[in-house]
Amino acid sequence: MTTSGEEIKGYVHSIETMGTLDGPGTRCIVFMQGCPLRCNYCHNPDTWQMRTNDLYSANELFSKVARYKSYFGKKGGVTVSGGEPLAQAEFVNEFFAICRQEKIHTVLDTAGFELNDSVMKVLENTDLVLLDIKHTDPAKYHLLTGGNLTIVLDFLDYITSKNIDFWVRQVIVPGNNDTETDILALSKLLQGRPSLKRIELLAFHQMAMDKWHKLGLDYHLKEIAPPDENIMASLREVLVKQGLPTKIM
Ligand code: SF4
Repeated sequence: MTTSGEEIKGYVHSIETMGTLDGPGTRCIVFMQGCPLRCNYCHNPDTWQMRTNDLYSANELFSKVARYKSYFGKKGGVTVSGGEPLAQAEFVNEFFAICRQEKIHTVLDTAGFELNDSVMKVLENTDLVLLDIKHTDPAKYHLLTGGNLTIVLDFLDYITSKNIDFWVRQVIVPGNNDTETDILALSKLLQGRPSLKRIELLAFHQMAMDKWHKLGLDYHLKEIAPPDENIMASLREVLVKQGLPTKIM
């Protein structure tokens, strides 16, 4: 509810009922509609537009995902992804609060683009954050996403200070963030954060190109080949040598 007693509703792009990649165990993944960033490798550009698609109250959304509770087991639960879920933070907070009451594990898959009171409330009801840092260099981050890295770093420091478990995800895009220097910078940023449980390196792929074309968007990465498996392994090795928990996806 808002302070005026109005029910908060959220725009949802789609729901995946048996996801196994976005958090631990078997999960129901809710893809929220709307994202303020414009990552040049985004594989969900159809989620960008704000205030469109299916509208749910938090209770309606919970009724939908609760049907799958028996599949979640001990490790699974609900992941809210996007788009950028924190663009609808008040709604996500209400939804997560219900999940928590019902003892369903909550994962927030975010780019950490915002840190305000509403976001902090969401984090109080979040069991695990999947944080996509994207790049550690402010200028390159801005070029890649249109966003501001300072806010992401504040977000990272905040979840560290609150001891909220998190995984970091980084899409490795050749020519963008695929050098040892890039990964050492990521490692330096992540050292000394006890609630960091995993770093996932995800290889860039071209599966979103059709979506960009269908939406009439200008896709700049069509000439970029996915990173070689050996490069991915060597980047992972850099993180492992720094003592960081790392996985290639
Ligand atoms: S934050 Fe995610 S949804 Fe938004 S543009 Fe970047 S990759 Fe796409």
